Amino acid sequence: MSRAGSEHAIRVWLAELAWSPALGLRAEVLIEAAGDRFTAVTPDVEQAPADAVRLAGLTMPGLANAHSHAFHRALRGITQASRGTFWTWRERMYEVADRLDPDSYLDLATATYAEMALAGVSCVGEFHYLHHGAGGTPYDDPNQMGRAMIEAASRAGVRITLLDTCYLSGGLAADGRQQPLEGPQLRFGDADSAAWAARVDALGADANGALGPYARAGAAVHSVRAVPPGQMPEVVAWSHRYGAPLHAHLSEQVAENRACLAAHRATPAEVLGAAGALGPRSTAVHATHLTSSDIGLLGGLRCHVCLCPTTEADLADGIGPARAMADAGSPLTLGSDSQAVIDLLEEARRVELGERLASSERGHFTAAELATAATEAGHASLGWPDAGELVPGGLADFCTVALDSPRTAGASAATALESVIFAASATDIRHLVVGGREVVADGRHLLVPDVPAALAAAIAAVHR
Ligand SMILES: [Zn+2]
Repeated sequence: MSRAGSEHAIRVWLAELAWSPALGLRAEVLIEAAGDRFTAVTPDVEQAPADAVRLAGLTMPGLANAHSHAFHRALRGITQASRGTFWTWRERMYEVADRLDPDSYLDLATATYAEMALAGVSCVGEFHYLHHGAGGTPYDDPNQMGRAMIEAASRAGVRITLLDTCYLSGGLAADGRQQPLEGPQLRFGDADSAAWAARVDALGADANGALGPYARAGAAVHSVRAVPPGQMPEVVAWSHRYGAPLHAHLSEQVAENRACLAAHRATPAEVLGAAGALGPRSTAVHATHLTSSDIGLLGGLRCHVCLCPTTEADLADGIGPARAMADAGSPLTLGSDSQAVIDLLEEARRVELGERLASSERGHFTAAELATAATEAGHASLGWPDAGELVPGGLADFCTVALDSPRTAGASAATALESVIFAASATDIRHLVVGGREVVADGRHLLVPDVPAALAAAIAAVHR
């Protein structure tokens, strides 16, 4: 209930159960916010104020989707009807990329981010490389596509970190030669990393990388396949200038490692490390096929690792060494990546279940560790260190998961987090609040009234 009509309205909720990394699991938690920040989080409240909104179920920080390519949502299902490999899937992905323009991408990304909001996602890291028009011709505003992503997140009510991606070459041949961009890839490219940096500067971020209260700028090196090592330091320097996150796809495929070794006599992690691209503000996405020395390198530099287990399963990538990377010092985060599904709870449990399948043993990650990856760590990796916790002063972003759905009914209070992480799904998200504002209430999106219709229309427009 709002006690004032302004943007500084004081809001009060009473969570039946609440969990966050620092709070742990607590009952009868009074959550208060003014404007976009929590002002108090008080467990074991016996008498709640009369105007407190009761949140039945388990309330937790909003989920951070740390790795997204919004347009891949248009591929869902279609790519399941055929056989093939990561590389044949990539051809289908390029066909969709080739058809989008700023208007159709705005519609598709708005609907996709609205699906994320319904899944409890309060912040998305958009790994954005579809920059230019046909043949690589820049739009009048060369950041028009990136601005469309920011507008889409705003319309869907979620925070965004636009990870503007440097993408300069078409790949590494098996003999290690860097290949030119061709076909749809031409839309991804900039002349070189200096041109990339000049274009991203023109986004207009402030000295801290902020593009507004709900949007930030970040950088990405697409991969060692797409950026020659000599071009990486410029991207790293840009990220340091703004204190911004720096993400990179890393060792998703064995073929990438092979080509990188042939070209540079070093693993992809070693190439990124030598360019200064790995550190506590960095995220290595996938990190599926690492040497033990790579694991030590990433962990020693406190580099985040973003696991995208449903995509990695969907694309037959493999199972990354999650426990070993966490033990080495890398905070783990989660992403929906190819949007094969959008369900951060499934991503979270698959980290543990992948380890079980690979090791024939149970119990590698606790539910709290997996939930931390989906919340606090994910936000930190996207440049929002004051989100992802239910704590006074933190950004007032949270979601509530039903404990009375067919999947979660019968959950006991003591193991409610285990029930949510190991059995709940995106459809069990009841509420989402971002910056103190309700975005999803009782399972309904309040800003995009019919999310399935918006998705259907946007996807049909791409395939028309
Ligand atoms: Zn990706």
